[in-house]
Amino acid sequence: MPVVVAVPKEGAPGERRVATVPEVVAKLSKSGIEVRVQHDAGAAAFYPDAQYEAAGARISSDLAGTLSGAQIVLKVQPPTLAEIEQYPEGAIVVGFLNPSRNLDLIARMRDRKITGFSLELVPRISRAQGMDALSSQATAGGYMAAVLGAGHSARFFPMLTTAAGTIRPATVLILGAGVAGLMAVATAKRLGANVEAYDVRRAAGEQVRSLGAKFLELEINAEGQGGYARELTPEEKSKEQEMVSAAVARADVVITTANVPGRKAPRLVTKETVARMKPGAVIVDLAAESGGNCELTEPGKTVAAGHVTILGPTNLPALVSFHSSAMYAKNLQSFLSLLIDSDGHLVTEFRDEILAASLLVHAGEIRHAPTRDQLAGGKA
Ligand code: NAD
Repeated sequence: MPVVVAVPKEGAPGERRVATVPEVVAKLSKSGIEVRVQHDAGAAAFYPDAQYEAAGARISSDLAGTLSGAQIVLKVQPPTLAEIEQYPEGAIVVGFLNPSRNLDLIARMRDRKITGFSLELVPRISRAQGMDALSSQATAGGYMAAVLGAGHSARFFPMLTTAAGTIRPATVLILGAGVAGLMAVATAKRLGANVEAYDVRRAAGEQVRSLGAKFLELEINAEGQGGYARELTPEEKSKEQEMVSAAVARADVVITTANVPGRKAPRLVTKETVARMKPGAVIVDLAAESGGNCELTEPGKTVAAGHVTILGPTNLPALVSFHSSAMYAKNLQSFLSLLIDSDGHLVTEFRDEILAASLLVHAGEIRHAPTRDQLAGGKA
């Protein structure tokens, strides 16, 4: 019996991505996997049903039909509590399950004996690069942040020499030069801006400079565990604020992407700093969902603070849904190669390091210790 993989239509507001694309369906079908796709699952990413069918998928008209008999369900966003009731017992869900914000859902998955793999937990080791959905989607987010910044700015990004005068290039400042930040640096450079970037990890400096941008140096190196940043000490924080504030004041567009795993986003731009910004300046705060790098950011909204526009987007990859879905689908295809062996059988033990690390809930037990502790604290 072939393994049955189901791809429901995403239902979260504003979500335009889909967990698989026809090109990946063709590869899965060729290796003997049965793929079932819900009607219009790819419509908002511009992958019509007919293309999935041509690639070998079966189209089901509703969620119940898509899920019936499914062993693996591929998702972008976590399923809702109502959706999880329809999943067959023992089914495996793979997606961004965002456990710390979905404790009720994880508890219900545990009780219904649904297995969940959370892509946020995939370790960032070289063998897992092809499955690193956090990186592929941060790449899409960083690109869109620069494009939105340019779109909301009243200034050109490039230098222009025209009969109607010479325009100086815009100055774009990127705070946080991880995956999204570096993509924002590269995109703003390509649009012709003067780009400056800053990160607490000194290692990011070399990457920023290799993209032709200026790295702002501060005598802090806050590289923590696993290549991520650590939280700064109070003295380091005030030093950082001083330098960041001066750089923000001279920028035309500021893109903030700073995050520390498991913590609220660091506050880099205060309301006093916003008040020092140029009229018409723009802030795009990619950390809006984790508390915001700017004090005045409102998640999901665009707000005016005096003459400054502040964007707090919460799902930028959804705006570039065709390509972000294609990248995500490739990530899931790699992940499936660990779950389904070369004979087309579902593996029964999740011993592989990547599977073990990303396994959130299985066979009625929460396997991810921080989520288990959070659930025990809340007695869910
Ligand atoms: P992230 O989203 O957690 O954070 C974004 C950036 O914010 C990071 O670069 C971080 O250093 C920075 N930051 C945190 N606090 C800050 C502060 N107070 N001021 C300024 N900047 C601050 O990080 P990410 O983009 O997911 O990646 C982080 C690291 O992981 C990078 O070193 C990246 O190269 C590495 N990485 C490795 C792999 C791999 O080896 N497979 C894949 C992806 C990322």
